[in-house]
Amino acid sequence: MRYRDLSILTQRDAPNNARTEGFAFLVRAGFLTRENRPTELGNLALKHLEGLSAKIGGSFFSQIRLPVIGNSLETFYPILTGAADIIHCPACGYTSRSETAVFAKSPLPGETLLPLKKVATPDCNTIESLANFLNIPKEKTAKALLYTRISDGKLVFAVVRGDMALSEAKLKRQAGEVRPATHEEIESAGAVPGYASPLGLADALIIVDDLIPQSANLVAGANDPGYHLANVNCGRDYQAEIVADIVQAKAGDACADCGNPLKELSADVLEDGAGYRFDKILLALAESHHDPNGLTIPHPAAPFDVYLMPIPGKELDTFAAAGEMYANLQSAGLTVLFDDRDERAGVKFNDADLIGPSVRVTVGERGLKEGVVELKPRAAAEKQFVAITDLIDALHKS
Ligand SMILES: [Zn+2]
Repeated sequence: MRYRDLSILTQRDAPNNARTEGFAFLVRAGFLTRENRPTELGNLALKHLEGLSAKIGGSFFSQIRLPVIGNSLETFYPILTGAADIIHCPACGYTSRSETAVFAKSPLPGETLLPLKKVATPDCNTIESLANFLNIPKEKTAKALLYTRISDGKLVFAVVRGDMALSEAKLKRQAGEVRPATHEEIESAGAVPGYASPLGLADALIIVDDLIPQSANLVAGANDPGYHLANVNCGRDYQAEIVADIVQAKAGDACADCGNPLKELSADVLEDGAGYRFDKILLALAESHHDPNGLTIPHPAAPFDVYLMPIPGKELDTFAAAGEMYANLQSAGLTVLFDDRDERAGVKFNDADLIGPSVRVTVGERGLKEGVVELKPRAAAEKQFVAITDLIDALHKS
C-alpha cells in the first residue's frame, strides 16, 4: 500500500487519554483515532488479522505470537483497560471469569459445638462492626444476603462466611434468577434487615456456602434489632435446602487445581463463542509488541513486512526506482508500505519505527548509483547495504 493512499497521520506524542502503551502507540502510529476508532490504516490491519484467522484456524493466537490465557469458552488478554474481571493462576494457567471462578477453600479448625447464646450487639449492622465489637475474626461470623426469586417471589436467604463475598452468578446457578429483596419482603418472611437470621424462618429458601456446615460456632443475626446469636451451627440450629459453592474467588485464594495463589486481573475478551474480536486482538498485539520507538508487531500479524522509503535525490529519480522495487516486492509475496511522501528522511525514519514493519528499506541516490539499497531490520541497531538484485532474497531471509 502507498502511504499517501492510506492518509496515514502519525503523532509525535502519546494522546493524553492513553491508559496503556499499546493504545498510545496505535494512536501515534495512525491506526486509531484518540477516540479509539480505526483509521483507514487501522481497518487494513483489522482486515489483515481477519484474513489470517480464517487461514490459520485453531492455532491463531500462537501463530500471531500473542500471549493469551483462557478456558474452553473464552480467550483473554490481561490489560489494565480490560472490561472483564478474571481470576488467573500463573502457576498452572487456570483462568475464569471472577464471578464463577473456583478456588480451594480452607475450613477453620474443628471445634466442639457450643450452646446457642443471644448477645447484645448495639449498632452492629455490618460484619466489620460486629467483628470489631465482639473482638472476633470475620471468619467466625456468618453473613446473610437476602434475595427474592423472580419466578415465584420466594425469599432466598444466602449465608456465606463473614470474610467472603457472595457471587450472585453462582447463587443464580442454584436458585435461578434473583434480585435483592426489599425491606418489606424481608420482614414479611419474618427476618429483620441488618440482623437477619436463618433460624426460624418460614417459607424461605436457605442456601449456604459449602464452608458454612464446616464452620462451627459462628455469630449470626438474631432477627432482633441490636442482637446476634453466638455459636450458630448449620445443621444443628437450622437446615439449609442447598449447600453449594456460592462465594467469589479473590486474589491470594488458593488455586483449586494446583494450590498456588490466584491473581485478579482485568482482561479483554479476544475470542468467545461469538467469534474473534479483532479490535481487541490488535490492541493486545500492540500492548505485547512495542519498544520505546513504536510498534514491533511481528510477521504474520503485522499488516506490512517491509517499509519501503525513497529519499529525494538531486540527480536520480529515487521515487521511480523505489516504485519499481515496490512492484517487484509485492510480486514476490511481500506486503509493503511504500512511503511515497516528499518528506525528509528523519520524518520517514520516525514513522517507519512507529508503524513498525519488521524491515525498513531505504532507497537513496548514493546507493542507487552503486546499485544498492539500505536494509535495516526493525529490531537491529545495524543497517546493511544490499544489492538491489539480491533484495528479495535478503528480505525473505530477514
Ligand atoms: Zn493453579
